[in-house]
Amino acid sequence: MGHALRRGSRAIWYQIVGWTPIVMFGLDRVARGMDLYIGWPALDYGLYFALVMETIILALGVANRIFHLRKQHKSTLRKQVELTMLADTDGLTMMNNRRSFERAFRQNQRDHRYSHLAIIDIDFFKRVNDRYGHEVGDEVLRVVGRLLDGTGHFAARIGGEEFTLLIKDDGREKRRNYPANELADICEALIKAVHEEVPEIREPVTFSVGVAAIARRVTLRSVMATADRRLYDAKGNGRNQIVWIDISASKPASPAGTASV
Ligand code: GH3
Ligand code: MG
Ligand code: MG
Repeated sequence: MGHALRRGSRAIWYQIVGWTPIVMFGLDRVARGMDLYIGWPALDYGLYFALVMETIILALGVANRIFHLRKQHKSTLRKQVELTMLADTDGLTMMNNRRSFERAFRQNQRDHRYSHLAIIDIDFFKRVNDRYGHEVGDEVLRVVGRLLDGTGHFAARIGGEEFTLLIKDDGREKRRNYPANELADICEALIKAVHEEVPEIREPVTFSVGVAAIARRVTLRSVMATADRRLYDAKGNGRNQIVWIDISASKPASPAGTASV
């Protein structure tokens, strides 16, 4: 009991209150039995009364304990949800982070919702930071994140100024150049959004995109490698464009499989 009291246990107070009448009536009964004093004979019933009281008080104690455990359980669950959300969210843009993206890709290998992976990289982003400051750079990242989140595809920020899109397979992939046309629209919208929402930046902020189809049973590493290679080609080919086939080997002047935005 002393230990429980030192720990600040609430339950022990229910036991103390429950047991006190029993101890009091018990001592009274013993004292009267030893003829130490003459009390009311009706006090004999006090022990029964004390037992009933103890049962009620201990039941209240158990109910109180259950109530607190349930409250603790709910708050633990809430914290768990918050932590899971934080672990999956990019702190600056509040969009999905790399961890969340990798999980979505693994899930896609089971349900095949997405047909293509695109890596979108902001062109000359270091220059934006150097010319206008890191705060303005951060604002660009937020605008890009917000717009990509609203595209209906699965968007994530996987690095400094690199984003990925898992592009929905809605049956249109048989159409020529899908999803390049869709990505061209997205890049155009991105350029416009940054221009309107970050007016400090005078020159257009553009984007380079590498796209890879997601074949069944392919690994994330190999799809990323393909998209990354094509992004690299887009950069080498002058930036502000989308590349969805391998062009590094041949390097024609204006290769098919690229689209300028
Ligand atoms: P490229 O067209 O070849 O992609 O050129 P780049 O300047 O965009 O690429 P580079 O890799 O040289 O520079 C990326 C820059 O992104 C450098 C870094 O300061 C900036 N960056 C990375 N993370 C953040 C961030 O969270 N906020 C801001 N403001 N800048 C960031
Ligand atoms: Mg860049
Ligand atoms: Mg980059």
